[in-house]
Amino acid sequence: MSSLPGQPPMNLPPFISYHAGDLVMEGVSLKQLAMEHGTPLFVYSRAAMLGALAAYQRGLAGRSHQICYAMKANSTLAILQTLVRAGCGLDIVSGGELERALAAGVEPGKVIFSGVGKTRSEMQRALEVGIGCFNVESRAELDVLDDVARGMGLRAPVSVRVNPNVDARTHPYISTGLKDNKFGIAHEDVLATYRHAAACAGLRVVGIDCHIGSQITQTGPYLDAMDRMLDLVQNIEAAGVRIEHIDFGGGLGIDYHGDEPPQADDLWHQLLKRLDARGYGQRKIYIEPGRSLVGNAGVCLTEVLYCKPGEQKNFLIVDAAMNDLPRPAMYQAYHRIVEVSPRNAAPLTWDVVGPVCESGDWLGRDRALAAQSGDLLAVLSAGAYCMSMASNYNTRGRAAEVLVDGDTATLIRARESAADQLRLESLLPSV
Ligand SMILES: *Cc1c(COP(=O)(O)O)cnc(C)c1O
Repeated sequence: MSSLPGQPPMNLPPFISYHAGDLVMEGVSLKQLAMEHGTPLFVYSRAAMLGALAAYQRGLAGRSHQICYAMKANSTLAILQTLVRAGCGLDIVSGGELERALAAGVEPGKVIFSGVGKTRSEMQRALEVGIGCFNVESRAELDVLDDVARGMGLRAPVSVRVNPNVDARTHPYISTGLKDNKFGIAHEDVLATYRHAAACAGLRVVGIDCHIGSQITQTGPYLDAMDRMLDLVQNIEAAGVRIEHIDFGGGLGIDYHGDEPPQADDLWHQLLKRLDARGYGQRKIYIEPGRSLVGNAGVCLTEVLYCKPGEQKNFLIVDAAMNDLPRPAMYQAYHRIVEVSPRNAAPLTWDVVGPVCESGDWLGRDRALAAQSGDLLAVLSAGAYCMSMASNYNTRGRAAEVLVDGDTATLIRARESAADQLRLESLLPSV
């Protein structure tokens, strides 16, 4: 059963359902978890993550490929471990993520390093541990990497991130493949960049990559980007520089609120047809999915603190806030919010807001909910870009996290205390 009493049926994310009046993830009661660990609490389904990964694995079966999970979507160690054990490499964007990746047990050769602003010390550490590839985003970065690698007597494996100038048709803040944003090297400069890279003694060209945006719900932009990438590969190889792998980035969307992105296996079925038609079907494929592996695997449980009805608006004030779930405040993003133990009562229309002192601190607007103070709500699709973007604003400790596997629930991150937050600070000496 997946519908609330008095409301039309709706599709809950996989592995989440109502059972005997309570929301359950796999075989675990979410109410039970909230009582045990307190709120706000992030809870993730292992089966949902592995199910999302399996769709990519099916789509790419029989092809030489490497799936590198873009760990900025959710970089909690046990989440990384889950995906790494299932065969994923990792796409990192900082030295901090590199250390997390290593701590989670990834083979360094399966790590690729993306991002426009890598520092010398980050490059050095990544070369030291032997990562698989640097996705380089500018000519200046290429030269610094060449210098750092030569200084260590090494050759850095590189791929140039191309800006294919295609419109991913998504929110402007998460669109990355258009000319006017900071990512990648412009299409027309790519060939010269490869010629230059191939001549650098500290570099070894291994691939080419792109990443056109996030929360993409159509196949068209991927096909357009693929065509542009293959045109470039053709030109680069005609100039005598061999491209071993082609990395098509991440960006596939999830269902937040009736969104209908293609399934990963269907998407790849179509992309592989195009790749085969153009004669590149045997080339090693890399992909960097983030959100689509973890987004719908997570919920954030929160308790209603106060009901505050008003003339214009009714507010449900909950104990989760923009510091825990920054996407609504940052992108006006929509997360569905449901009752954990629905009451058999007529719903009212509420704005669900947090305790942080900002008008931007809302989690959902105009939601039909029958809730009273003390009730639990679940913010759905909270597995990606929530905990990894969480902050300590208002000196709020970051939430705890639990991973569910069948009937078992494991605390994978303890709730952050005030002492944890004060640990790195010092008072001034006494006068
Ligand atoms: C963020 C990012 C990804 C993952 O994007 P999703 O939309 O989460 O799939 C992949 N590659 C790069 C370079 C990124 O910056």
